[in-house]
Amino acid sequence: MNYRLAVDGGVPVRDTFLPYGRQSIDEDDVAAVVTVLRSNWITTGPLVEEFEKALAQKVEARHAVVFSSGTAALHGAVFAAGLGPGDEAVTTPLTFAATANCVLYQGATPVFAEVCSDTLTIDPGEITKRLTSRTKAILPVDYAGHPADLDAIRDIAKRHHAIVIEDAAHALGACYRGRRVGALSEMTVFSFHPVKHITTGEGGAVTTNDERFHERLRLFRNHGISTEARQRQQQGQWFYEMVALGYNYRLTDIGCALGLSQLKKLDANLKRRREIAAAYTRAFANLEGVISPAVRLEAEPAWHLYPIRIDSAKLKTNREEIFRALRAENIGVNVHYIPVHLHPYYRKKYGFGGGEYPIAEAAYQGLISLPMFHAMTAGDVDDVIAACVKVMHAYAN
Ligand SMILES: *Cc1c(COP(=O)(O)O)cnc(C)c1O
Repeated sequence: MNYRLAVDGGVPVRDTFLPYGRQSIDEDDVAAVVTVLRSNWITTGPLVEEFEKALAQKVEARHAVVFSSGTAALHGAVFAAGLGPGDEAVTTPLTFAATANCVLYQGATPVFAEVCSDTLTIDPGEITKRLTSRTKAILPVDYAGHPADLDAIRDIAKRHHAIVIEDAAHALGACYRGRRVGALSEMTVFSFHPVKHITTGEGGAVTTNDERFHERLRLFRNHGISTEARQRQQQGQWFYEMVALGYNYRLTDIGCALGLSQLKKLDANLKRRREIAAAYTRAFANLEGVISPAVRLEAEPAWHLYPIRIDSAKLKTNREEIFRALRAENIGVNVHYIPVHLHPYYRKKYGFGGGEYPIAEAAYQGLISLPMFHAMTAGDVDDVIAACVKVMHAYAN
């Protein structure tokens, strides 16, 4: 092993770049898509319903409604919950901007609440402090695939007559107190972007046990029209009515064919991610400068991400330099996330200047997401660990 850091001109741990996440497409996925391309329906056909049924069953929910992206699915959930101008939704600052943006799409106001220092998911005690008479929804995020404190959040929401929309874009297949994420909140939102557990190209879904939400979600993704073209064609009807202002947020049969094929491999995918996480956690237990992600007793994470925290008190440097050094070793690290309130748009709109959410902001300063995807080989995992050991030793105090 060459101990000179690649960033200083040494030989990198790997000679090819390892991304932090990527899709796995097998020949059976390709075949499923090709079959659709040769069929009569390539947009909203029979596979939409088939994928929705399979997904709902997988996450132990009564209904699933698929959308053209996870962001569109979030928008649909906020619509279904009935949020509008003057309403507020409490969410976490430590997420992808879409979680808060979807509240703005409906003219409502996102209100951020501080995160727990261990899991970096929204802190129920902090949600309570942010509730007002206008709070209509709470949007927890299952950060990195670790479920938020869902029981406590549901209790708060019940008392306040607010609806819980769980952003589970990271958490397909995660468990909380032995139950699958999917029907533990009134609505649960998933994403099928290629870096997530399963992909449809672009795509997303909302799962729910509630008939009324189910109905409203279906309306919203199809212009607010009460029947779908295929239904009308089958029934020999031309009449339709638009009853709400919706969008074209439909997912294609092409995407659903891919989703169905990918869903069959979800369990193997989760198993592999859990093995990789266990290997990382074991390797970093005694590595100064690296703090592994916390896992609470009640949680079985889905490990979309493996975000370590750099403990700069134990190192001669900071996250920036560690990040650059790992990238130079050809380890495709990333950072999740810049706290949403610190983005220029939110700073300008609400006057945030930094310092409002000290736990989220301090966590952000130390966060580095290591490569995590199920097709990683044992050699890939070893390379990530070797690079972390090499870099931390080089910068050790
Ligand atoms: C990926 C993601 C989304 C949005 O999903 P898209 O399918 O990319 O629109 C929303 N929230 C979180 C936390 C995500 O990671």
